[in-house]
Amino acid sequence: MSDCLFCKIINGDIPVTKVFEDELIIAIEDINPQAPTHLLIIPKKHIATALELSSKDRQLIGEIFLCANKLAEERKIDQSGFRIVNNCQEGAGQTVFHIHFHLLGGRPMTWPPG
Ligand code: 5GP
Ligand code: ZN
Repeated sequence: MSDCLFCKIINGDIPVTKVFEDELIIAIEDINPQAPTHLLIIPKKHIATALELSSKDRQLIGEIFLCANKLAEERKIDQSGFRIVNNCQEGAGQTVFHIHFHLLGGRPMTWPPG
């Protein structure tokens, strides 16, 4: 989608620190990190929110979680603990309407989230 920030990032129109890429997914450093590790795992396919996922996206969602595990191991936060977050809709804090998963770790996490 031409007016989507993450589609622009995926197309290389906006510079980012990319930490992983394959045919389905990119992972980048968040521009405003909320933890020592704060990555965004983003499918290349434009899907606005989790509500727009369909049965065709089953493999994609699996790949995202496997990618998160791999990145958590690389960042050495796999044993200390990490959080995978998807904010769905504005009321939950979603600001970019191209589905993405935050991978947060490297500090103690509190519960409940704000
Ligand atoms: P949301 O609030 O939709 O769950 O998450 C959007 C995330 O995208 C935020 O954590 C925000 O810091 C990040 N973000 C917004 N614009 C940019 C950008 O231009 N580059 C990068 N790397 N991250 C961004
Ligand atoms: Zn998009």
